[in-house]
Amino acid sequence: MSRAPANDGLRIDWGRLLRALEAHYAVGRWRRPLLRPHRGDPFQVLISTRLSYLARDEATARASKRLFEAYPTASKLAKARRPDVEARVRPVGMARRKAANVIAISRELGRRHGGVVPATLEELLDLPGVGRKTANAVLQFAYDVPAITVDGHLLRVCNRITGWGAKTAKEMEDRLARAVPELLWSKLNPVVVQHGQNLCRAKRPSCGVCPIAGSCARAGVE
Ligand code: SF4
Repeated sequence: MSRAPANDGLRIDWGRLLRALEAHYAVGRWRRPLLRPHRGDPFQVLISTRLSYLARDEATARASKRLFEAYPTASKLAKARRPDVEARVRPVGMARRKAANVIAISRELGRRHGGVVPATLEELLDLPGVGRKTANAVLQFAYDVPAITVDGHLLRVCNRITGWGAKTAKEMEDRLARAVPELLWSKLNPVVVQHGQNLCRAKRPSCGVCPIAGSCARAGVE
């Protein structure tokens, strides 16, 4: 199978590539990105993304469901007892630290923002423990603001496609922001993450049946 050469990403037709992936995953039973069930609820997107740090997608989904059953809003979670939150988020690991963090975020939302999740990158980054991935996820999935949310799947898949060898999420975000038309930014995460969950897995990617193999440098893939 031929490989596309590693490149600056500007020669890739990102619109065509994303459409090919969307069409592929529109048919059949595939794993779906975690944030889709919480789309549109800024608080749940924010908290779910914080819980997802170094956790498997299934564990994050389970912990989020258990947490939001009892504490669906910032005002409710702000008043929660830590041991109960800790028990609910245990599937994601680092439960004690993550429980304390999501309670702290909820209290800050009440104290500084009237219980409402802010809609600017700067204000989001100012919340306790919130980094670029979480802030961009809130902008993108809750407020429909064009943003590039880089998680482990997106970093790995886009490095394989382009051969950039980006080491950090911020480096990948900057490169993609230069190479991909802004109109497509918000499509990148859901579509590419789904590809990372299914065919372009970390181990043994299924390049032989991949719908974008002709546009992919397959960098780092044996
Ligand atoms: S599955 Fe293979 S061909 Fe497809 S994007 Fe991943 S590395 Fe490229």
